[in-house]
Amino acid sequence: MRKLALVLALAVAASCGGNAPAHTGKPKMVILGFDGMDPDLVRDFMAQGLLPNMKKLSDQGGLYDLGTTVSAESPTAWASFATGSNPGKHNIYDFLVRDTSTYVLDLGMVRRIPGEFLFDYIPLKRPRVESLRGGESFWVTAGRAGVPSSILTVPITFPPEDVPNGELLSGLPLPDIRGTMGTFYYFATDLSRYEEGDTEFGGILKHLTFEGNTAKTEFIGPPNPIVKTKIKNIYAKGGTLSDTDRAAIGELKSIEYANLPLSINWTRGSNQALIDLDGQKIALKTGEWSQWVYLDFKINFLIRVHGMVQLLLMNANNELQLYVSPVNFRPDNPPTPMSSPAGFAGEIFKQMGPFRTLGWAEATWPLNENRMDEGTFMADMYKAFDDRAHVILNRLVAKNWDVLVGVIEATDRVQHMMWRLTDKKSPLYDAALAAKYGDSIQKVYQRADAFVGDVVSKLEPGTELMVVSDHGFHAWNKAVNVNTWLVEQGYMVLKNQNASRDKKLDDLFGGGEFWENVDWSKTRAYAMGLGQIYFNVRGREGQGIVSPGAEYMALADELVGKLKTDLIDPATKDHIVRNVYKRDDVYAGEFLGNASDLQLGFADGYRVSWQTAQGGTPKGIVYDNMQKWSGDHGGFDYETTSGVLITGRKLAIDKPSIMDIAPTVLQHFGVAVPKTIDGKPLFGPVK
Ligand SMILES: [Zn+2]
Repeated sequence: MRKLALVLALAVAASCGGNAPAHTGKPKMVILGFDGMDPDLVRDFMAQGLLPNMKKLSDQGGLYDLGTTVSAESPTAWASFATGSNPGKHNIYDFLVRDTSTYVLDLGMVRRIPGEFLFDYIPLKRPRVESLRGGESFWVTAGRAGVPSSILTVPITFPPEDVPNGELLSGLPLPDIRGTMGTFYYFATDLSRYEEGDTEFGGILKHLTFEGNTAKTEFIGPPNPIVKTKIKNIYAKGGTLSDTDRAAIGELKSIEYANLPLSINWTRGSNQALIDLDGQKIALKTGEWSQWVYLDFKINFLIRVHGMVQLLLMNANNELQLYVSPVNFRPDNPPTPMSSPAGFAGEIFKQMGPFRTLGWAEATWPLNENRMDEGTFMADMYKAFDDRAHVILNRLVAKNWDVLVGVIEATDRVQHMMWRLTDKKSPLYDAALAAKYGDSIQKVYQRADAFVGDVVSKLEPGTELMVVSDHGFHAWNKAVNVNTWLVEQGYMVLKNQNASRDKKLDDLFGGGEFWENVDWSKTRAYAMGLGQIYFNVRGREGQGIVSPGAEYMALADELVGKLKTDLIDPATKDHIVRNVYKRDDVYAGEFLGNASDLQLGFADGYRVSWQTAQGGTPKGIVYDNMQKWSGDHGGFDYETTSGVLITGRKLAIDKPSIMDIAPTVLQHFGVAVPKTIDGKPLFGPVK
């Protein structure tokens, strides 16, 4: 009976995505990506016998450092993976971009186009997102030539592109229902009014007041686009606001978000609570996670937005603490397509039940904000790992593809958050915590290895398997305020000496203020993102003063020299940057004009501060990184931040790069490699 059920499930799986495209008859190819998997750690763990499945694969072929992009960031590197080209041809340089005329910062992966409404009510056009990624993915090129593919949660595949003869489930930057990278919720009785509000790393914290056994509050949903536009229009009038305008804004602000009622029934000391979220009753004990809870947010009578969350009752003893995950898109009813074909996500949802859809699926922000402990973070992260792994295994056995690519990012997240417990030089190293959680990174690598074993056991004989990562990892022990250094050196001029207001992640989603203190008429260079420096170029920037040509070149030479010689850690006298790259030396292509003028290559242990990333100029240049986010790669010198490549075949080329995967796949299936591709096939010409 069970066998029959399995056969039926496989039959459904095989039929998923419409008419199954014809196979090419060539050996199949599977590429498993583990974001941020570091080649040195892989070698180390392999030598200890901890990664038997990867060892077996590498014994047949090899284990190599896989060159990454400048900068060594996931969006940049995965875009080069997909397109086989350098960032100058695909336009993804960082998480952030700036508007050259206004200097306003925005997410560097997508462009958001608001919806249109008739009478502020009836939707005429849905809000849309467009990818900023240029170039062409190898699955599209191969698909056009008749190669069927299954592309699963690869970063920089949202919004989903049409894949001829293929299926694609979007990964990063697929947002939560509020349009952010992951707004988490934390409701607690022991939260002071001072702590309440939006946190630096995207959480909504709410104090709970119990009257008797009941606390009533609101669960903040997605912004109402109609109300948002009305508010924007009032501000757009300019000048000082009239009393009527101010009153109107006050009223609109109270309905700016589509909220849901949340109430909690709890007897102090009982270690359990009954939660009522928009009429759905959820009974939980301390430490217990809920099933997925489906939520409908009403924008107006015509528009509903559907999402899903999981709740964790963290404490219900003498205080009550309730954590709610970011609101994930519902795969069968997303507010905007999250797969290609659009119904593909819903089909796997029907087969497998709910799975995390959020691009940034792990709870890094709550841990960083100290609203979650290490044990809970790790348990949650394994769930994120398993959700991705189940989707990949589901498609693996469907066999409707000739090339399958699946990416899991837990490897990256665990290193970001737990590096401090592996490095005694970390300012947050804690021997007691390290005794308990010091092997977290190793355990996730082992989980990845076990998954490789699962996949191998399901492969048809002759299938080629590659394990890849987009970049490696470093300790991030000290943070560097690059903008403040530019001010100190006279390249950036502030209007007054007050430090800028601290920036929050949420500013990127709510039209926050950037550079409010910068005097552009006297500023020659500014830093943002993870180690990018832009010049304030005349004719390019809104208030540019640096002339293109000789002046630009002289400034580049001068800054490269100063950064390499003068930017020194006062405590150790160590150089903070290992190298600085000039735009034209490392990028080429149609999007060269969007690249930063300089890209810093930080030395191990140093990273640009979060405030610099968003254009802030806090006081001081170098300070200890006291956040749990303690390992990183963005902005580190790409020469020391390679990813990993494990293949079952020996390579025909030296120094493989992430750009080499795309041409390797195309060549394998006999598809002509487009001339625009910078990478080279790994296994040399076909014999
Ligand atoms: Zn990362």
